Amino acid sequence: MRRPFIGGNWKMNTDHASARSLAHAIAEGTGADWAADVVVFPPFPYLLPVAEAIAGSPVALGAQDLSGEVNGARTGEVSAEMLRDVGASWVIVGHSERRHTIGESEALIADKLSMALGSGLRAVLCVGETRAERDAGKAHDIIAAQLRSALAAIDAAAMDDVVIAYEPVWAIGTGITAQPADAGEAHREIRSALAARYDARLASGVRVVYGGSLVPATAKSIFAVDGVDGGLVGGASLKAHDFLALCTAATVGVAAS
Ligand code: PEP
Repeated sequence: MRRPFIGGNWKMNTDHASARSLAHAIAEGTGADWAADVVVFPPFPYLLPVAEAIAGSPVALGAQDLSGEVNGARTGEVSAEMLRDVGASWVIVGHSERRHTIGESEALIADKLSMALGSGLRAVLCVGETRAERDAGKAHDIIAAQLRSALAAIDAAAMDDVVIAYEPVWAIGTGITAQPADAGEAHREIRSALAARYDARLASGVRVVYGGSLVPATAKSIFAVDGVDGGLVGGASLKAHDFLALCTAATVGVAAS
């Protein structure tokens, strides 16, 4: 059985004090026998204080990005080793804001994924189509192509450390959550792309989560969809109460599906 996963992507939000208090509140709200992987992804400068705030809790620490290079002359970049050094065990790769706003290429995303996994980090690989791509009937082709490119150099054994996040670009930060049926279809498409790249057994074992304007009110119907193993949450992860409600919904809803 796939263990539910829920991640809070804080993006470029919080400050030192609010990052610490948000992390404390989330850590306090999750019990020792929590039945899901709960991961918070603060901005780089707050990784260490958040690591301290969640120490001893079931909440894990993740980074929002990493360099595709090991070290050296890369001004402004942060390496996988540095992330591990401050206590991060997860990293997000291929987020749509990095693909579309910052302009990361498929090749760079593939390098970052290889670097993360090769360095002992676990990765949330984000894929998803734009509104125009969906309207043109290309959503599934786009998702399959993103997976083919990112996973070309990733062997089957490393896939234990990968969570795929289906994040339709038009749903991120817009207040529009995908319809459960559309999310379910995209998740099936992701598993069939994984089966084509690896095999059906591996495809059924990889966790695939949904992201895009998830709030407690919409989560229940999304998490009840067969094959949805939790969520990656942006805006609602900045409010401890909402994020904890989503964590509970993932644990209950996913376990029941
Ligand atoms: C995200 O950034 O991964 C995300 C899902 O954001 P939001 O929940 O705000 O749409």
